[in-house]
Amino acid sequence: MSVVLVVNSGSSSLKYQLIDMSDETKLASGKVERIGESMGIVTHRTADDRHETETPVADHDAAFEQMLRGFAEYGPSLDEVPPAVVGHRIVQGARRFFGPTLIDDRVETDIEELIPLAPLHNAANLAGIRSARRLFADTPHVAVFDTAFHTTMPDATSLYAIDREVADKYRIRKYGAHGTSHKYVAEQAAAYLGQPLTELRIVVLHIGNGASACAVEGGKSVDTSMGMTPLEGLVMGTRSGNIDPAVLFHLHRKAGYTVDELDTLLNRRSGLLGLTGTNDMRDIVARVEAGDERARVGLDVYVQRLRHYLGAYLVQLGGGDVIVWTAGVGENSAEVRRRTCERLEWLGVELNLEKNAAAGGDEIREISTARSRVRVLVIPTNEELEIARQALATVGGE
Ligand code: AMP
Repeated sequence: MSVVLVVNSGSSSLKYQLIDMSDETKLASGKVERIGESMGIVTHRTADDRHETETPVADHDAAFEQMLRGFAEYGPSLDEVPPAVVGHRIVQGARRFFGPTLIDDRVETDIEELIPLAPLHNAANLAGIRSARRLFADTPHVAVFDTAFHTTMPDATSLYAIDREVADKYRIRKYGAHGTSHKYVAEQAAAYLGQPLTELRIVVLHIGNGASACAVEGGKSVDTSMGMTPLEGLVMGTRSGNIDPAVLFHLHRKAGYTVDELDTLLNRRSGLLGLTGTNDMRDIVARVEAGDERARVGLDVYVQRLRHYLGAYLVQLGGGDVIVWTAGVGENSAEVRRRTCERLEWLGVELNLEKNAAAGGDEIREISTARSRVRVLVIPTNEELEIARQALATVGGE
């Protein structure tokens, strides 16, 4: 049995999944939250149980110890199902990593070197790699980068129109994110349609708390809405997405905002939260239905930005064959999907409103009408499974 352990190590959390790759079933999963705070929360799930404990978790080493404790106490025993490989989610691989990569000391150093491009994320990812390599010293470790899928973006879509010397010196360009998810759902879409991915033009809308759109042509990312960092593009749960950069100069000059305050404002206090007071789409839609004006305007801004990117990518691709909705909002919010796809019949996009409104499960759903030229699908994403597949393939497993 080929088993893969997938780890996603964030600045204050560690998420993991143990997957049996013979049939791609999840054997166990868990989360260690609030690392470094006075009290942490540890959750371990098996096929039929969920166990939650509270205990202080000082750092990533301690978080991995908690993970091992979860497996030892609640199963499955890692002695009985030892992972053949550990797959690590890494946020920023820039233009240094173009695919999944077997981790050695050199790769660790390269990931460390990329920390300035994703300070919070890569530092935490690296801490996770170091802890995991100590604990699973005889197991191969593979890094799977969020940016790798987007390394096929041409200069035309990934360069910013700033001084080339400054850009090159500081490696400023669009790297994108969510690549593992975009790749996974694009492949799922092709399999569902029974058409080769190489012949499809797909717009993927990965819309969760973080959100990005991606134009996929022949299986390759040709543009995506997130930029050098995950702040650019769509309106998100707490991130602003696109704004005029001069807003920052203005806030600095007129209101004395520091760089850190601006960072916090745009990354944590903007987006749906800033516009409406909450970042949960369920609450926002309920408030709109109840006549709440602030929620209505917030949802309008959100949907308008989605339409902006959808239109841009359909033009860029010279037309589209498929639109894929995925992630928390994309998979669950019929209202956001309906509003985004409204009045697009002229582009060949027509939703079947009944199918769109029906509740979905884990299955792929087609929500366009039979005559819609562009087929619209809802596909649950599964980044962990994609990481596991890539990690196993990298070490020659299947
Ligand atoms: P994600 O980051 O992919 O986990 O997505 C999380 C977001 O999905 C939440 O913040 C909600 O706004 C949204 N969401 C989850 N379930 C629903 C639902 N049933 N209807 C609308 N939005 C949802």
